[in-house]
Amino acid sequence: MKKLFVFMIDALCSCDIEVMKEMKNFGEIINNGSYVHHMYPVHPALTYCCHTSIVTGKYVEGHGICNNELLKRGLWPNDVWFGMKKDVQAPTILDHARDLGLTTCSISWPVTGGADYTYCFPMIVPYHYEGYEPEKYLKGTATDNIMDTYIWKYGRYLKGKDRSLDLFTMAVAPDLIRDFGQPDVMFVKMCDLDSVRHTDGVYHENTKLQLLKHDEELGILLESIRRYGDYENTNFVIMGDHGQTDIEAVLQFNELLKEKGFIRTDGKGNVVDCDCYAHSAALTTFIEIVNPDKEQEVYDFLCSLKEDPEIQLLYVLNKEEMKREYHVDGPFDYVIESKRNISFGDRLDVGEIWSKRIPGEHKVGAATHGSRPERDENTMFIACGPSVKKGVYIETANMVDEAVTMAKMIGFDMENTDGRLLKEMLKDEG
Ligand SMILES: [Zn+2]
Repeated sequence: MKKLFVFMIDALCSCDIEVMKEMKNFGEIINNGSYVHHMYPVHPALTYCCHTSIVTGKYVEGHGICNNELLKRGLWPNDVWFGMKKDVQAPTILDHARDLGLTTCSISWPVTGGADYTYCFPMIVPYHYEGYEPEKYLKGTATDNIMDTYIWKYGRYLKGKDRSLDLFTMAVAPDLIRDFGQPDVMFVKMCDLDSVRHTDGVYHENTKLQLLKHDEELGILLESIRRYGDYENTNFVIMGDHGQTDIEAVLQFNELLKEKGFIRTDGKGNVVDCDCYAHSAALTTFIEIVNPDKEQEVYDFLCSLKEDPEIQLLYVLNKEEMKREYHVDGPFDYVIESKRNISFGDRLDVGEIWSKRIPGEHKVGAATHGSRPERDENTMFIACGPSVKKGVYIETANMVDEAVTMAKMIGFDMENTDGRLLKEMLKDEG
């Protein structure tokens, strides 16, 4: 019986491959396995959309997680993120594995709250709770076995201003492999490379230091599987969810809509009424039409921004066009993206249309993501193990190909996905 172990590094970029080859543990996997160098994320290339596409093999229109934040008409602003697995409208590779009688484990993966997996700890930091009481959120969203066995000693990593989900993840994951045995299918997600890029930029020296930390973490997990699991029969996957792009300017789009008279506020940043509203997805923005009588006027204004020398919109796509071109559906009317490396804010209390970058901020930091899939940087998919050929290089593939390919590694077919089996990297016996 073959097993699957997935190590997810948020915002792992294609440009990281050469430095990873030189590192001890990444190097071992890369040099003995195969990889896709440019893995195109789904549109919008946001953490929650991409993680959900990775496990379902579906584009956003097929799984319903169209943003990090819950996207809802009339909900402005909104800081609540998608959290619960029941919001995912397609089965995941872990659901299929469970139905086949395999043990399943998901640590710190987004949108898994309440998932029916053998071991589940959903990604909760830094969202969904304040300060020192993560237990309130975790009750009923994480599985009892993890809550009962580990929260009493490792819960402290999730508390306070300096809390670190990666520290918690790396405390729980090796212990879990030792205490419960290696699950048949195990997904472990790390966050900090994404934070470093949001803070310092895509190519900053600090990204290499952070990759070295992730290499050490992978080393601990590989050693855990060597000691307590079934290393020889495990297929290892290292992947990212999206790349990032260095940002040159931040455009507070709702401030612009306010200036043009489409949004009226009380002067303190609260909407009094509006004809349309922008929900930022960082490098792209969802536009919601609130007053249908003004739709043509709003659309004409958006289109005029293609010619604006500063804003330089690349496209203004309506719902049908987003579905047709990028398989995105949701409660929005238009989507816009700039040719320039502009990140969109959606605040109404900054008092200016062009605002400063805020290093570390996920939407308007030094670098960010959330664009159409083709935009640099993309991410990667690296695999090694008994089902994987050695030395196959694939230049490009799509994120929706990953679920069906990983399922095949452990011997089952995942039907009804949007993906293509990357069979060129798999051995014939699958
Ligand atoms: Zn991410």
